[in-house]
Amino acid sequence: MEKTVQLYEGKAKKVYATTDENCVIVDYKDDATAFNGLKKGTIAGKGSINNRMTNMMMQLLEKEGVPTHFVEELSDRETVVKKVSIIPLEVIIRNISAGSFSKRYGVQEGIVFEQPTIEFSYKNDDLGDPLINEYHALALKIATREEIDTIKAMAFKVNEVMKTFFKGLGIDLVDFKLEFGKVADGTIVLADEISPDTCRFWDSETHEKLDKDRFRRDLGGVEDAYQEVFKRLTGNM
Ligand code: UDP
Repeated sequence: MEKTVQLYEGKAKKVYATTDENCVIVDYKDDATAFNGLKKGTIAGKGSINNRMTNMMMQLLEKEGVPTHFVEELSDRETVVKKVSIIPLEVIIRNISAGSFSKRYGVQEGIVFEQPTIEFSYKNDDLGDPLINEYHALALKIATREEIDTIKAMAFKVNEVMKTFFKGLGIDLVDFKLEFGKVADGTIVLADEISPDTCRFWDSETHEKLDKDRFRRDLGGVEDAYQEVFKRLTGNM
């Protein structure tokens, strides 16, 4: 499959049209942003790690019955995915308190929840991705009741599969963000990426942060953290 025109350039990826009208090619960059674009930088090797890690996770999830946009890995940084219209919701699942949850509710990081939580943000950079609930999403016609129910069920399933998988690598899956899209016939599939940019990973033993919080909070060792997660994923421990 051949790239034709560039359709879009986001903060971490470029998207190209292809010779197949049902597919696009995603090209992962090393660029990193945080705090809605206020903090900018690069993380050497991130694009390749996020591309390959996302594809491994998408294939694992497909095997476990979660439909995804994944089609084919083309190279280190490029992947063919199904063309979807992205539902403008960021779906966040949490197993352990951290980040904006801790800030918003005034609790320490590291509280292990008995049940995972789910929340939605309206994906809109100009508004700073505000938190919304299901009724708001319905009122704004972002999704239908059926679509929201499907998304919730898929997100909790993704959590179960990923939590177990990462536990086996000595990593606690703290929280993560998912995005969903609709293919031409309206079927909802898991889209976007699953990487240390979009998940919080803590080492199960040392509780060391192995994710983008190292960049957000200037903790150092950013590249090493991404590489460590990828090393465990590929089994070269
Ligand atoms: N997240 C993301 N993109 C966003 C916001 C959050 O990928 O625009 C991920 C983030 O990496 C974390 C989870 O979603 O794994 C929960 O993030 P949180 O709401 O705590 O926001 P943050 O503290 O990152 O601002």
